[in-house]
Amino acid sequence: MEDEIKNEIIKTLKLQREIFGDDLFIPKNKRNPSVVKEPSPFFEEPELFSKPKADLSDDNAEWQKASSLDEFEKLICNCKKCRLHQGRNKFVFGTGNPNAHVLVIGEGPGAEEDKQGLPFVGRAGKLLTDMLKAIKFEREEVYIGNVVKCRPPDNRTPMQDEMDTCLPYLKKQVELINPKLILCLGLTAAKGLLKKKESLGQLRKNVFEYEGAKVIVTYHPAALLRNPHWKKDAWEDLKKFKRMYDELIS
Ligand code: URA
Ligand code: SF4
Repeated sequence: MEDEIKNEIIKTLKLQREIFGDDLFIPKNKRNPSVVKEPSPFFEEPELFSKPKADLSDDNAEWQKASSLDEFEKLICNCKKCRLHQGRNKFVFGTGNPNAHVLVIGEGPGAEEDKQGLPFVGRAGKLLTDMLKAIKFEREEVYIGNVVKCRPPDNRTPMQDEMDTCLPYLKKQVELINPKLILCLGLTAAKGLLKKKESLGQLRKNVFEYEGAKVIVTYHPAALLRNPHWKKDAWEDLKKFKRMYDELIS
């Protein structure tokens, strides 16, 4: 009996493969019903957000034409393109020198950032300020932003679709700031920005390009607070970053 069922399943799958190729076809009403039916306290309409809508509708959006960061911020600060808008107190656009050579990119706002509407103002932010100081940058001299601009609930990691939806905004910021170098903080930010699948250890070894800027990936300061023994490696990354800066800006 069991064999009969097994053979039946194999036959059906073979048939499906002939018709659909390697993509599994699962009828809609059989898809993990608990995920679809149970309303989450946070996600109003989970299915609505399952795909980034940015690329479908952003090409002619008003904000695409913004010619300054201030103008751009005004045009997007009420964004509701992904579920993260539901939990935010304040939209965190980014802050710093609009003509900075250096752009620092984190993951997304935490509790303090969400309260103040500014990036990296909590404990990790203080360490970031010290990290920048260690390589002779003042905070005001660089520009600091995040891959997502609204706080994920309970400081969870932003999901790939949230980062994909928000990324066109960061891309536009890069276009307006036109930095020579980008310092990417942590694996999540690197994944969001560069769409890479490697480990942080691998990413740290390389130099990437994003919209004409050189990108270096290092540890997130929050990770360094949790694991201070990584500071030694982070320091090597920062020195490499500074050397590249000195070579490019002279
Ligand atoms: N962590 C981040 O990644 N970004 C912030 O703005 C604050 C903490
Ligand atoms: Fe919009 Fe980005 Fe906020 Fe999502 S995280 S609502 S895409 S600004």
